[in-house]
Amino acid sequence: MFFRLVFNFKRTDLCHYCETSLKLKNELSEMKKAEYLDEEKENNIIEKIKCIDYHYEIALRQKEIYNAYRTNPEMLTEDQILIDIDYKQKIYYGKISPRQITSEFYSYGSCSCLGFGIYYVDSRFNNTTKQIERFVNCYNINILCDDTSQTAADFINAFRHLRNLDLFKKIEKKKYIIFTDTAKQFRCAEVCHYLLVELYKENIQVSFNFFGEYHGKVIEKFC
Ligand SMILES: [Zn+2]
Repeated sequence: MFFRLVFNFKRTDLCHYCETSLKLKNELSEMKKAEYLDEEKENNIIEKIKCIDYHYEIALRQKEIYNAYRTNPEMLTEDQILIDIDYKQKIYYGKISPRQITSEFYSYGSCSCLGFGIYYVDSRFNNTTKQIERFVNCYNINILCDDTSQTAADFINAFRHLRNLDLFKKIEKKKYIIFTDTAKQFRCAEVCHYLLVELYKENIQVSFNFFGEYHGKVIEKFC
């Protein structure tokens, strides 16, 4: 007897721009199959597809640049560090038990984990070539924020805390290349002011970059 197992592959984090592009391409294909001639409508759809696909090109370019900085020691100069920032998860802590009284349920604490991936150029002696070679090294530092609301103020406080850590001071340079996603807590005036004005007063130059909207550092497309 044979059984056929069917797994439902469900995606819930698709980019709505790319999905719209997919629908328009299908619509265009149906129009061509039906030999439905409406040149104006067809051109209109083609223009929309071009605009939407440009967003994907930008997302792809951002990812390529980010990966080049992370992996190629020729991209990062001696006075630069790359900082990749992302909220990792919300954490709830407290008494975990299958039987809880009401007060225990409401006594849960919560915090957010903000991850900093810090890439910098390091050097080491290569025993084979007998030469010193440059390579990109990385520290991953997670900072717990005492709240799950993930506000711009939390982000700025965490960044200030990061800059005070001895580990960060050891590898810090005068130029930061920062990458974040387009979440509202990063893409706001308070964060821009901190990174581009306050840090500038400390002679830190910041290049502030966003990954493509709805794509992040992982680029997927199902069109
Ligand atoms: Zn997209």
